[in-house]
Amino acid sequence: MKQMIVGNWKMNGLSAPSRDLVSAIAQGLKAIANPPPVVVCPPFTQLGALSLLLKGTGIALGAQDCHHAPSGAHTGDISAIMLAELGVEYVILGHSERRREHGELDETVREKTVAAMDAGLTPIVCIGESADQRAAGEYQDVVGWQIKGSLPDNFSGIVAYEPVWAIGSGVPASPQDIADMMGFIRAELTRQFGETGKTTRILYGGSVSGREAPTILPIAEVGGALVGGASLKADAFLPIVRAAI
Ligand code: PEP
Repeated sequence: MKQMIVGNWKMNGLSAPSRDLVSAIAQGLKAIANPPPVVVCPPFTQLGALSLLLKGTGIALGAQDCHHAPSGAHTGDISAIMLAELGVEYVILGHSERRREHGELDETVREKTVAAMDAGLTPIVCIGESADQRAAGEYQDVVGWQIKGSLPDNFSGIVAYEPVWAIGSGVPASPQDIADMMGFIRAELTRQFGETGKTTRILYGGSVSGREAPTILPIAEVGGALVGGASLKADAFLPIVRAAI
């Protein structure tokens, strides 16, 4: 399974720079023989326009959240079927910024994951411990509970391990920490989901850059990277894509 590189643009991207960024990524991809799967996740406001622009580029479109209901009285929310209608294929769920800023609990994430799967989207479910939880030695417990609580029994999708303390810090987790957690997550997924858990793609996220990617991507069980800051510039993102194996 070729590694997948996913760009999480977060709340960044007005129209013209978004178009320029995907055009530059598409151009860069053309120069890569046998490129890996690449997904860009811009803000909701850019999804419609970029969906048209991405056709034929080999770059897939993802969103950064969805509501658990298909429609209804939920002011300001966007449903999974609305995303699917736009040509969105992936949706990031349970990112630590949403858990922190919007009070999302594992149960909320699980409901959204079900909605995404029902709409035919591939959920990318984020899990990861905080600095305090790591310092207290609780990181495996926390991540184990997140897996149990955030993923439905019939889960089909991608898991992203993003230690909260590494996100946006400029320093990824060490290869040893990543290897340990990847092994732990694989064991938990296998215990919970059997055969499916053995092949579920696991991404690493947290300050991945072109410099670190060649060290991080070959680590056992790493199925790709979820990239924040470095996904906002083609010349920072493309070296990560090139490092995919
Ligand atoms: C993220 O928030 O998903 C992320 C990985 O961010 P960064 O790469 O900027 O640490």
